[in-house]
Amino acid sequence: MYIWIIPIILAIALIWHFSHTRIRQTITESADQQGHDKLAQEDAHIECPLVYNGSELEFSDEVFHIVLSKHFQYYNRLLDIDKEKFINRLRKFIHNKIFVIHDKKGYREMPILLSASAIQLTFGLKKFLLSHFNIIQIFPEAFVGLEPFRILIGNVTGNTINIAWKQFLEGYKNKYDLQNVGLHEMAHALYYQNFETELYIDKDFRESFQMFNAIGDKIYHVEKVLTIGLYSEYAIKDFQEFWAESIEIYFKSPDRLQLHYPELYKALCDILNQDPLNYPNHLFQSS
Ligand SMILES: [Zn+2]
Repeated sequence: MYIWIIPIILAIALIWHFSHTRIRQTITESADQQGHDKLAQEDAHIECPLVYNGSELEFSDEVFHIVLSKHFQYYNRLLDIDKEKFINRLRKFIHNKIFVIHDKKGYREMPILLSASAIQLTFGLKKFLLSHFNIIQIFPEAFVGLEPFRILIGNVTGNTINIAWKQFLEGYKNKYDLQNVGLHEMAHALYYQNFETELYIDKDFRESFQMFNAIGDKIYHVEKVLTIGLYSEYAIKDFQEFWAESIEIYFKSPDRLQLHYPELYKALCDILNQDPLNYPNHLFQSS
């Protein structure tokens, strides 16, 4: 009586099978990063984004290690025991996210490295999943933001973190400037997760963040009058941007931050429970 259901079920099963197989093949076919710096302008306007459910991206430890070793200096500096912890956290983080790539092709470096920037920021904290943000959108280049209408290389909105891939890679490759859009947006997300949402709050982070409010506020006002070149004009107009840029400087040039603003450097070490200048002599106090 219901014989007509069988071909429909078969068709659904076939579509499911092929769609999932295609996801794995597409995301894993790039073993390296060649060409990503040369994304063509026309790639910026793709009508149908690629969508990858992180729980279906089954990267092996070896793949994580290869990609991180090649592109992520922070990982390379870690002791073996912390490398293992980094990969374990990375796997869990990816598992909990949906990655939307506005490009013709998805590369495994995209979910791995974007997630790695979040793991870097939260590596000394107990809670690292940024669970409020279940969607990460990746644009090949700077993209248009609405309300207000402007060109962006990253932002955090609703439950989504948006990042431009080209600028994200530059943030890790360029050792001579203080910019890193990945860390910048993850810093916004971490703040938002802990102060604007009611769920998955890290009490230790919230409490220690008062140090940043107190010490950062003084420096924020000093920088408004006499900038020493660490912060952009953008950062000294908005305290949230000052927080996000402080994180970029803390990771990209911790020696300069410590030299000019030792109190702020120390506060960030305490808040994040890590010390980039003294690792591994100062190990993380908790995991
Ligand atoms: Zn910002």
